[in-house]
Amino acid sequence: MDDVQSIISLLHSPSEKDRALIAQAFAFAAEVHKSHVRLSGEPYIIHPVETVKILAEYGMGATTIAAGLLHDSIEDGNIEPKIIESEFGEEVLFLVEGVTKLGSLKYRGADRHNESLRKLFVAMSRDIRVLMIKLADRLHNMRTLSFVPEEKRVRIARETLEIYAPIAYRLGIRKLSRELEDLAFPFVYPKEYEEVRGAAAERRKKQEESLQKFLKSVKKALAKEEITRVRTEYRVKGLYSLWKKLHAREKNIDEVYDILALRVVVPTVQDCYRVLGAIHASWRPLPHQIDDYIAFPKPNGYQALHTTVFTGDGNIVEVQIKTEAMYQNAEYGIASHISYKEGKMKGEIPASLVWAGALLPQGATPRETVNPNTLHKDVPQWINELVSHHEEEASVDVFNHGLRSDFFQHRIFIFTPKGDVVDLPKESSPVDFAYAIHSDIGSHMTGAKVNGKLVSLDTHLQNGDIVEIVTKLSAHPTAKWLEYVKTSLARRRIKASVQKQS
Ligand code: MN
Repeated sequence: MDDVQSIISLLHSPSEKDRALIAQAFAFAAEVHKSHVRLSGEPYIIHPVETVKILAEYGMGATTIAAGLLHDSIEDGNIEPKIIESEFGEEVLFLVEGVTKLGSLKYRGADRHNESLRKLFVAMSRDIRVLMIKLADRLHNMRTLSFVPEEKRVRIARETLEIYAPIAYRLGIRKLSRELEDLAFPFVYPKEYEEVRGAAAERRKKQEESLQKFLKSVKKALAKEEITRVRTEYRVKGLYSLWKKLHAREKNIDEVYDILALRVVVPTVQDCYRVLGAIHASWRPLPHQIDDYIAFPKPNGYQALHTTVFTGDGNIVEVQIKTEAMYQNAEYGIASHISYKEGKMKGEIPASLVWAGALLPQGATPRETVNPNTLHKDVPQWINELVSHHEEEASVDVFNHGLRSDFFQHRIFIFTPKGDVVDLPKESSPVDFAYAIHSDIGSHMTGAKVNGKLVSLDTHLQNGDIVEIVTKLSAHPTAKWLEYVKTSLARRRIKASVQKQS
C-alpha cells in the first residue's frame, strides 16, 4: 500500500474530495521535500506522513491531514504562502501558517517556557487544529529523538515534558500526553527512569496474574446482577506518571495501587453505579479511595468512578468504571470534539460519537465548511481567558502571573443554583465566581451564599460548592477585593472599576 492509500485507510468514510485533497497534498509535500533527509538518514517525507497518521488516529479530517502533510513546507521548503493558498485554499493555509509560526519559536533564557506557552495558547484559541498538528509533529519527533544530537535531545525532551505533555493532558488528550511523557522521561531523568522501570517491572508480573483472577470473579459478580453489556481492559500506568506520584507524595511503590488498573466500560451512567455496587458487595473497598468523578469531574473534564478494593488474595486493585463516551473523552479529549466538527459527519454518525455527543456544547452541529474563527468557542474557557488577558495588556509580566495562577494550579468546579458549572482555579473566592458568571454580577455583588449559607467574600470555594451571589445595583467593588481573587479576569475588572470610581 502506498503512503496516500495508507493515510486514507485511517479515515472514517472519506469522500472523493477528501481523497483527492490528501493525494494532492502528499504529492506537493513529496516534491517540496524530495531532496531533504531526516537525521535518521531516511527521506524527509516520512516525517509528515507519520505526523498525519497520528492526526488520523485522533480522528482529524481531510483538511487537517492535508495541512499536516504541508506543515514543514513553508519553513523547510521555502514555499510561498500564497502558493499554498492557491493550491489548497484559505483554510489549509491558515493551519499551515499557524503551525509554522509556532515552529519558529526562538528560545531566550528563562522566558522561553512562558513565551512558548503564550504562543501555543494564542494559536490554540484561534483554532485548536493548529495545536493538534503541532502535538502530532512533536510526537513523531519524540519517537525518533534518538537520532538527534545529544545536546539537543535533552532540551527537546524537557520542553516536551514541561509544555506539550501538560497541554495535551489539560485538553484531555491523555493518550497522547502519556506517550509524550514516557518518550521524554528517560532523556530528562535517566537515573530516575531506570529506577522506576526496574521496580515497576518486578511488581507488574505478580499483579498481572492477580488481576486475571480478579477479572474472572468480577465478570461473574456482574453477570449475577444481570450486567452483561460490559467491556473490560487493563490500564498500565505510564512510568513518568508513576514516578511523579512516588516523587510528589514521597510514597513507596507498594503503596501505589493503580500501576495496573481494571477498567470496566458500560453503556450508561446508571450502569456505572450498578457496577460499583456489585463490586463493593463482593470486595471490601479501601477507605477514602472511592472517587465519584461522574458527579464531580476532574478539572480537565475527566469522568469515571474510581474505587480501590482488596482482591482477597493479598492484592489491592484500582477499578475505574466509565461509560463508552467517558472512555472516548478520557483518551481523546478535545480531539474527539474537533473531529466531529470537521464536516465528516455527512450521513451516519458512529456510535462512539453519538455517545460522546452528550458532551458536545449544546446546539453543536456538523458544518459544511469550518470557519477557523468560529472554532474558538469549543476551546475551554480558561484558555480564552488567558489569551484575551494577554491581548488586552500585552505585558509579559502580567501574562506570567496569569500563567502561574490559571494554568499550573489545579482547578475546581463550582455550581450555580441552576446547576451550571464554572471552572475556576483552586482557592478562588465567591468574587472570582461572580465575575466568571458575568461582569455585572461581579461588579454589583454584596454577598454570597455557599451551599445555602452566607459566607464572607474571602472564603475559599471548594470543589462542588453551590454558590449564589447576592447583588445590589448601588454596590461597587473596592480595592480590598483584589486580596480575595485568584482569577486574572476578576482582578482586571476590579482594577478597572476602582479606577473609574476614583
Ligand atoms: Mn515537523
